[in-house]
Amino acid sequence: MKPSRFEYHAPERLDEAVGLLATHGFDAKILAGGQSLVPMLSLRLASFAHLVDLNTVGGLDSIERTNGHLRIGALVRQATAEHDTTIATATPLIAKAIPHIGHFQIRNRGTVGGSIAHADPASELPAVALALDATIEATGPGGVREIAANGFFESTWETTLADDEILAAVRFPVWGAGSGFAIEEVARRHGDFALVGAVCGVTVDGDAVTKAAIAFFGVGPTPVRSGDGEAALLATGADGDLAEVGRAAAAILTPNDDLHASGAYRKKVAAVLVERALTRAIEEARA
Ligand SMILES: Cc1cc2nc3c(=O)[nH]c(=O)nc-3n(C[C@H](O)[C@H](O)[C@H](O)COP(=O)(O)OP(=O)(O)OC[C@H]3O[C@@H](n4cnc5c(N)ncnc54)[C@H](O)[C@@H]3O)c2cc1C
Repeated sequence: MKPSRFEYHAPERLDEAVGLLATHGFDAKILAGGQSLVPMLSLRLASFAHLVDLNTVGGLDSIERTNGHLRIGALVRQATAEHDTTIATATPLIAKAIPHIGHFQIRNRGTVGGSIAHADPASELPAVALALDATIEATGPGGVREIAANGFFESTWETTLADDEILAAVRFPVWGAGSGFAIEEVARRHGDFALVGAVCGVTVDGDAVTKAAIAFFGVGPTPVRSGDGEAALLATGADGDLAEVGRAAAAILTPNDDLHASGAYRKKVAAVLVERALTRAIEEARA
C-alpha cells in the first residue's frame, strides 16, 4: 500500500523543525530513520498531513563523552552506535543491545533517538535508557527540557514528549570501574521484536554488588524497571542465588497474553533471562 498524501518538509535547523511542529500540531510528525514510521504510514495505520524530516537538520549526529556522561545525538544511526568505540567503552550496554534490533539494514537507517522516541515496549533501547537512568533532552518552542527516562515512557508508542517537542539527544551516565552489563531476550526468529527481554548492569566489589540496574522489555505497555530485583541483588551479592534474584525481579510483572505468548510464559522467562544476564554481567565486572 501507499501512504496517504502528506507535505514533506526539510528544515535545516532544529528551531525550524520545532516551528513546523508548533504550526501544524497534531497533523505533523517527525521523520528520523523511517523504520517504524514509514511502514505505519504505508500500511495506513497512521497518517499525517505534514512530515518534518530530521535528516536535513544539522548537528544531531554527534557522540560526546563529557563529565561522567555519554551524549548521543538523536540522529546517530543505530549501526553507528553499535560500532562506535566511545559508546562501547562508556556505555557498553548500548553496544550490546543494538545487535538485537531487527536486521542490519534496519539499523543502518534507524536512529537511537527514533527508537527511544517511538517507545515501542518491546524495543531494546528504551529499556536500556530506563535501566541506566538516561536523561532525554527535548527541544521545544520554549527551549530545552530535560526528562528523566523514568518519567518519559507513558504507554505503547506514547511518551511525555509534547507534540511540538523533538528529542534532540539522550545522555547516559557512565558507570565506574568494576562494572558489567548484559542483555538477554527471547524472540521467535532472529531480528523479530522480543517476546520478552531483560537488560542489566552491576558494579561489583569483591563479593558485594554496590550498584545494580535491571529492566525488562516486551512485558507490558512500557519498559519496566525492577527495583525489587535490584534490591534483592544488592542484598544477596555477586555470589548469591541469582535465580532467586531473577524471580524477585520478575515478580512485579503483569504481562498480558497475546498471539505470540501467554503472560505466564513471559513472566517465567523474564526471571530466567535476569538470572542469565546477571551471570554474564557479574563475570564481565570481575574480568
Ligand atoms: C522489520 C523490522 C524489525 C524491527 N525490529 C526491531 C527490534 O527488534 N527492536 C527495536 O527496538 N526496533 C525494531 N525495529 C524498529 C527500528 O528500531 C526503528 O528504527 C525504530 O523503532 C525507530 O527509529 P527511526 O529512527 O527509524 O524512527 P522513525 O521510524 O523515523 O520514527 C518513529 C517514531 O518516532 C518519532 N521520532 C523519531 N525520531 C524522533 C525525534 N528525534 N524526536 C521526536 N520524535 C521522533 C517519529 O515521529 C515516529 O513517530 C524494527 C523495524 C522493522 C521495520
